[in-house]
Amino acid sequence: MTSPPSATPEGRGRGFRGRALVWKRFDFRETSRIVALLLRDHGVVHALAKGAHRETSPLLGRIDFLSDLEVQLSGARDGLRTLVRADLVRERRGLRAPARFLAASHFVEICDFALVPGRGEPELFDLIEGGLTLLERCPATALPTVVLGLELRLLAHLGALPDFDCCNECGVALVTQAFRGEVQGALCCRAHAASPRRAVGQRAISFLRVLRDQPGRSWPELPGPVPTGAAALPAAWLAQALERRCRLRRHVFAPAATGIRAVDTGA
Ligand SMILES: [Zn+2]
Repeated sequence: MTSPPSATPEGRGRGFRGRALVWKRFDFRETSRIVALLLRDHGVVHALAKGAHRETSPLLGRIDFLSDLEVQLSGARDGLRTLVRADLVRERRGLRAPARFLAASHFVEICDFALVPGRGEPELFDLIEGGLTLLERCPATALPTVVLGLELRLLAHLGALPDFDCCNECGVALVTQAFRGEVQGALCCRAHAASPRRAVGQRAISFLRVLRDQPGRSWPELPGPVPTGAAALPAAWLAQALERRCRLRRHVFAPAATGIRAVDTGA
């Protein structure tokens, strides 16, 4: 039912239907809202939800943050579409718990930085949708592990996940030990370690390898907590890939949960 991604850039074109996540919401006048919808095939599209605050509105209760919808959008007038119809595919009530909401908000924020306006990215949409389901359903104690796994998946999607099996300088396998390299976030062998030499814990690296190599559905079963140092490396990789710091991250990897000092997380 959906049009090709390039056929309907935001701001023009005909109306269309599609799967969407409620990405952001803004109040508009007294009874309406502007919603930013993340569509699987069209990227982020803004639409006016007319009268969404009215008690009789069919949109009431459907355009909650991160709800999964099947939407129908009008063609654009003055650069803005109207949300004609929204059918609830699933609401994410589980994400209302504070720790889950925080984890989901951090994940949404880093994905938002990675989205190119008006460009549909089905693979990223599927990662986001699957990731939100994991964050909604996993045991609360597994939230930091799942967030870390999702960060690795996002970095891989962006082509920004470094090799952490081999030395960044010479390519030798980092089997028994690894050190921080000159480049921030890079891992090196003893000979190419930055001065002063700082070892990276093997448990931390092994944990990241397991997250990278195993399917997301198995992450919640990994024995926790996240090993000391394991959250610090993706922090550096994310900061480089997104060219900004993630303001919510240090709250997800709270010191009590991970034994990591906030200064190490790059958040
Ligand atoms: Zn080396």
